[in-house]
Amino acid sequence: MEEGNYSSELERMIAEQLKERGINDERLIDAFLANPRHLFVPKDQKHRAYADRPLPIGEGQTISQPYIVALMSDLLDVNPDDGILEIGTGSGYQTAMLATLGDIVYTVEKKGKLQERAKKIHRNLGLENIKYRTGDGTKGWKEQAPFEKIIGTGSVPGVPDSLINQLKDRGRLVIPAGSRRQQRIVLVVKEGERIIKEKKSYCSFLPLVGEEGWSK
Ligand code: SAH
Repeated sequence: MEEGNYSSELERMIAEQLKERGINDERLIDAFLANPRHLFVPKDQKHRAYADRPLPIGEGQTISQPYIVALMSDLLDVNPDDGILEIGTGSGYQTAMLATLGDIVYTVEKKGKLQERAKKIHRNLGLENIKYRTGDGTKGWKEQAPFEKIIGTGSVPGVPDSLINQLKDRGRLVIPAGSRRQQRIVLVVKEGERIIKEKKSYCSFLPLVGEEGWSK
């Protein structure tokens, strides 16, 4: 497909999948325009890059549905001076949105091959405010903590304590928590000693496998 076709597909995706479902934040919409999804999917998926669903990216993993990426970004409420921790780089699609919205993104991915691919895509897009680490992210990234915002893009049985501990005061954490098959997106807000947890939309994410995630 030609570049021109992608741009009309991208615009349609934004209108039908995001705006019609209540995503209207201008900075967020601009981030979706700046980071076209077809750049993040493998060759054999390009023809459906703008489909309303997750898509396989290799290594048994997927790129998230655009609406879910938008919803989680919206819940995080990213400010231009925020430092953000992301667990599960995957294709690097959510990472790119956060890097466009915030000041710096620290992203941790278990699978080195996926992270390498994401890194190249980010470089081609000119995104230079991303730091990468390969390994188990369920324990966070202690050396860089605390963070204004933390996002988990894979599921956990319960919100990891390490992530809550690495959140700044007034910080926000968004992660899908629940069973293997179905979760709720949980928003955690830290206010001094108070930890406020709110359960949001139902969803179905691949697991984060690690010390404070799933055991396998
Ligand atoms: N937001 C990503 C979706 C990633 S899917 C996108 O839109 O492309 C979840 C990712 O978490 C997978 O790439 C998987 O390899 C990774 N992952 C699983 N367990 C992990 C762990 N313990 N630490 C870091 N990453 C992990």
